[in-house]
Amino acid sequence: MLSQVVELIEKKDRFAITSHIRPDGDGLGSSLGLYWLLKALNKDVEVIMRDPAPHSYQQLPGANTIRVVPRINHNYDAVFVIECSDIDRPGLVDLEQQFVVNIDHHSTTELFGTINWIDSTAAAVGEMIYNLCKATGVRVTKEIAECVYTALLTDTGSFHYSNTTERTFKIASELVRTGVKPAKTAEAIFGSYQWPKIELLSHVLATAQRDETGHVAWMWQTIDMQEQSKASEEDADGFVNYPLAVGEVEATALFKETSPGVYRTSLRSKGDVNVAKIAEQFGGGGHRNAAGCTLRGSSSEIEQKLVPLLQDAVKRANGLRDLTEDVLK
Ligand code: 5GP
Ligand code: MN
Repeated sequence: MLSQVVELIEKKDRFAITSHIRPDGDGLGSSLGLYWLLKALNKDVEVIMRDPAPHSYQQLPGANTIRVVPRINHNYDAVFVIECSDIDRPGLVDLEQQFVVNIDHHSTTELFGTINWIDSTAAAVGEMIYNLCKATGVRVTKEIAECVYTALLTDTGSFHYSNTTERTFKIASELVRTGVKPAKTAEAIFGSYQWPKIELLSHVLATAQRDETGHVAWMWQTIDMQEQSKASEEDADGFVNYPLAVGEVEATALFKETSPGVYRTSLRSKGDVNVAKIAEQFGGGGHRNAAGCTLRGSSSEIEQKLVPLLQDAVKRANGLRDLTEDVLK
């Protein structure tokens, strides 16, 4: 919990921070926010990741200091593991031999740390890093503010998702007061892609299908599409959301081929439709409305497996909705 994290930071000096493979805005923003917090306290700290920061996050303060390595080869007083469901998510060999502090906002996370600070009410781990500033008495500098704002902006889907609360806006407001420029940050993240992303999108959108109810939609991305458009894997970020722009679509999947027969799968949903439960069945996880997992098999096998599960999730949520309506009557 928070008090244990504060005590550890007060007592110890040599820290590392890491997050999950293919880090996203919350993983990077929160890791770097914590980096600047610890720097402000004159601690010896470095951020280590298995994968580099995607292009759109390279403007984050401190992104250029991230050490990209496959294993941990120093002894630290503690390693902070940010936004990871289990000890393997960072993809770092020998991590389990360290004193691990697990900081996450997923309710389903395993308690794999010696210290576990989990706050499932936080829209992003970025909110928790902000709270940690308050708890340690560290002033929120412009660097911390930019990192935390990026975490909030990306994990709330630009303040669209249901995890966005009054507290999120309060924190965002303070960050803006500290010097964050919302339009500049948003443009750096969402408006700085390269043309191959558009080419890849045109291939992926061409595969969009929906079921007979119209509530479930899915798309495919193959290695061929990625090669043809000369796109990187991260160029597909955000594609899974497109079908949700249609009113009746309540659940979507993007099956992204990463090697023959292996598909990184992103799931998204609206309202009460729970896709995290589906991802968990396949060793993945996430939040109710945004989750992911890796699936193996042919495309038709995967479709036959996943589409009915998405349909069930929609049905279950509609059942809930009917019940709520009954109660309200
Ligand atoms: P994305 O579809 O953007 O890759 O992931 C959406 C959300 O699902 C992320 O917030 C992340 O927490 C979660 N997620 C994605 N892939 C995995 C996975 O393989 N394992 C777990 N535990 N969570 C995942
Ligand atoms: Mn997050």
